[in-house]
Amino acid sequence: MTDTLDDHLTKDLAARAAELLHTLGAPTPVAGELPARTPITGGTLMTLPADSRDDADAAIGRAAAAFRGWRTVPAPVRAGVVRRLAELLTAHKAELGELVTLEAGKIGAEAVGEVQEMIDICEFAIGLSRQLYGKTMPSERPGHRLMETWHPLGVVGVISAFNFPVAVWAWNTALALVCGDTVVWKPSDTTPLTALACHTLLRRAAADVGADPEVHQLIQGGAEVGSRLVEDERVALVSATGSVRMGRTVAPRVAARFGRCLLELGGNNGAIVTPTADLELAARGIVFAAAGTAGQRCTTLRRLIVHADVVGPLLDRVAGAYRQLRVGNPLDDGVLVGPLVNGRAYEGMRAAIDRALADGGELVCGGERVDGFGDDAFYVRPAIVRMPAQTAVVREETFAPILYVLTYRDFDAAIDLHNGVPQGLSSAVFTADQREAERFLAADGSDCGIANVNIGTSGAEIGGAFGGEKQTGGGRESGSDSWQAYMRRATNTVNYSDRLPLAQGIQFG
Ligand code: NAD
Repeated sequence: MTDTLDDHLTKDLAARAAELLHTLGAPTPVAGELPARTPITGGTLMTLPADSRDDADAAIGRAAAAFRGWRTVPAPVRAGVVRRLAELLTAHKAELGELVTLEAGKIGAEAVGEVQEMIDICEFAIGLSRQLYGKTMPSERPGHRLMETWHPLGVVGVISAFNFPVAVWAWNTALALVCGDTVVWKPSDTTPLTALACHTLLRRAAADVGADPEVHQLIQGGAEVGSRLVEDERVALVSATGSVRMGRTVAPRVAARFGRCLLELGGNNGAIVTPTADLELAARGIVFAAAGTAGQRCTTLRRLIVHADVVGPLLDRVAGAYRQLRVGNPLDDGVLVGPLVNGRAYEGMRAAIDRALADGGELVCGGERVDGFGDDAFYVRPAIVRMPAQTAVVREETFAPILYVLTYRDFDAAIDLHNGVPQGLSSAVFTADQREAERFLAADGSDCGIANVNIGTSGAEIGGAFGGEKQTGGGRESGSDSWQAYMRRATNTVNYSDRLPLAQGIQFG
């Protein structure tokens, strides 16, 4: 049998992946049972050994042992590891970005942007290491001091999704390390190579600054190996990013052992476009948020709620831009939409569009598979479907580029429609009316963890807390005071007097 064009391309990509791993300092993996695929051709780049449950146990043990020393290293000194990691990431930004493209199928600009986000969070964490502030409160008792102190929590188990294979790890790890925790990472089994590269860079950063490299452990494999982090009492916090389905399994099991959970689950993000909106600006924001990353961001725009008076001109602009989007190999210049991650994602997209059409939806554009990339690669044209109502399929997250369009006449009804889904991650309103903008951000406005005005739903900065409500899980990561999830708080009362007054004025004996 002769090789097809896709086989040749897969071989070239496999050689390139091996070269990139080498440049990033990662050892060439010995062959194993875990395939590292590329969605670019659907072919296998190489295979790696998968970790067993025993391997996971041992990794948790090493992280727990390392924690005993790491927790007493001063936070600004702990930040030295993160500073060195940021230097290594800066030096290897292009290589790590390319590996993200090979494994997750992101276009170059978005893949390098993801690495930049890692550098940004490292910088944030370095500053944070001198700002792990506790409050001092006035005591009601004379000669007493009342205050809170923040302490390292323990081992943090990080479970991450395929679509942000490196940034989500960095959000968690940079913060956890300066907070004095050690980390065991279970990346998506779809992206083992980028995980290996990040793990190698971090261990190198630790070694370079004389810190214990055992502060970071990597366990590779699927849900089975991730379950060890969920069950093990030595893991103080499980930070889990992925589908609502995964969160439903993980959260109750961590709660049953009184562990802590930080959940970053699926979204079903909506944007309202009002009659006063700058339609040109709105269309640009909508196209990036809905079609970017081939609809495979947790913050992807999936529901557009447009005032009936402007739906025509807005859709003309958005559909016009959609028709010009270049879909193809994400390594090629000018391509804006890369592949779906696998055939299951494509089947999910097809099934959702069929259900939407059966519900009375009208396909405005897209939805078809783009040929020419082989049987195992799944490239699609992003779809727009006008819907008569927010039916069951619209209320679900389909992890593919489908934008459902609904119309409204009354702004209150638009907000109800917007909030009428089980997920609560990101949201936006496009308007020039300050009353509508403020209303969207108010207590009776958007019910999401992220609410934007005149920008799309995706592409958050690291400085703010990131996360969502309802089925999205309630967790917050990245900036602002998200670091508190990675520490335990102690309230301290110090009596520096020679008397022993009791709180609430109680006289005892
Ligand atoms: P997924 O739920 O299939 O897998 C996510 C991770 O969970 C993987 O590492 C997987 O191996 C692990 N996992 C699954 N079941 C497990 C179990 N029972 N025990 C332990 N680990 C388990 O998600 P995916 O397909 O990789 O990613 C897409 C999903 O992730 C989408 O729903 C997307 O919205 C969501 N996501 C959310 C955010 C966020 O910040 N809210 C960010 C990225 C992705």
